[in-house]
Order: sequence, then C-alpha cells, then structure tokens
Amino acid sequence: MITLALSKGRIFDETLPLLRAAGIEVLDDPDQSRKLILATNQSDLRVLVVRATDVPTYVQYGGADLGITGKDTLLEHGSLGLYQPLDLRIAQCRISVAVRDGFDYADAVQQGSRLKVATKYVGISREFFAAKGVHVDLIKLYGSMELAPLTGLADAIVDLVSTGNTLKANHLVEVERIMDISARLVVNQAALKLNQAPIRRMIDAFATAVAR
Ligand code: AMP
Repeated sequence: MITLALSKGRIFDETLPLLRAAGIEVLDDPDQSRKLILATNQSDLRVLVVRATDVPTYVQYGGADLGITGKDTLLEHGSLGLYQPLDLRIAQCRISVAVRDGFDYADAVQQGSRLKVATKYVGISREFFAAKGVHVDLIKLYGSMELAPLTGLADAIVDLVSTGNTLKANHLVEVERIMDISARLVVNQAALKLNQAPIRRMIDAFATAVAR
C-alpha cells in the first residue's frame, strides 16, 4: 500500500487533475466526508488528509510515503529525510513583504529602522531580512497576518500573495517579493528504497501529468 499525504483546499483541489491524468480517482470528497484516510480506485494507493504544515512531518517519519506541500512549508519545516523529485507547478503564488498603504517601507529600510514583522514564516523572513541587512523583530502569528499592520502590532507582514486581493481589501501594499512558491512532491527516502517500483511509478505519473 502506498500512502500519499495531501492537505485540504488548494493543494487537494489542484492535485486531483494530476491524479486523474494518471487514471487515479480519489473516492471520497474531504469537504463532504469526515474521513481522514481516503480510498482511491487503485487498491494499492490511499490518500491521507492532514494539515498543510504537517505534510512534511508525515512524510519525513514515514506516516506517508509521498506528500504534496508548498515550497513555503518545506522551507520552514526543513527537508531532512525528504527526497524532492518534482515541482508540480500547482498552488502557485509568491511570498512577499506587505505594509499598510502609506507606510514608507523604502525609507524605513534606508534609515536602518528596526522593523516589526508579523508572519507565519519566521525562518524564511529571518533569512531574507538578514541577507538585506535589515534589523527586524519577528512576531510569529498563525493566521490573519493582514491584521497586524492595521492594529499596530507590526510594521510589515510576510505572507503568501496570489491575486493580491486580500492585501488590497485590507489596505495593504506589496513592497517586496521574496520568492515564487509552488507545490512540490516530497518522498520519504527510506520508503523509496524499500518500495522502489510502485513509488517510482507514482513519481513518473506525476511527472507525465505536469509535463502535459
Ligand atoms: P490573494 O488574495 O489571491 O492574494 O490570496 C492571498 C490569501 O490566500 C492569503 O491569505 C494567503 O495566505 C492565501 N494563499 C494564497 N496563495 C496560497 C497558496 N498557494 N497556498 C496557500 N495559501 C495561499
């Protein structure tokens, strides 16, 4: 049995067409069912529904053989024990710095001001601002980052941006693009050695679907 870990939402929805291209159908809809282990039309493949930030952990420790997770999550988690054979080019977005409309970010950076930055992405942010030589106090949040500059909790946020509509609706502007993000296939290295043929077949099926 091969186990694939996915998170609900964007990654699950955008993975379905890739699976379908390989003739794989997931037999339950995680939005309709409370099941966390979903059967597929392949008797040797099942899907685990886990939190996005837990996908690398499941794969790293062998709770799943393969998983699909955003590059943002992988960078924050670290990739120990994970083989990353493919960029699936789904769930595309970017990770950016945003500030309240009217806040002069360029000036604050130039003046060498110490910036308060709220984010879920503490690791990525620390590395980014250190490379720029900008002093920051990082404030870890788990959601609704957009609120932080509006309430005075922070001067800036680091968050995922896709259309930019969420920033706009909250009177925030994107001032720096840190990197482009997309979802990656990750594989447990030990599982690949032990169960090479079926896992290789899955990797090849994803590669073919992405190349279409
Ligand atoms: P948007 O309004 O289209 O710019 O989307 C921004 C909101 O969606 C933010 O709350 C982001 O955290 C979230 N978001 C955007 N793209 C992704 C993605 N690929 N994966 C997960 N969350 C995302």
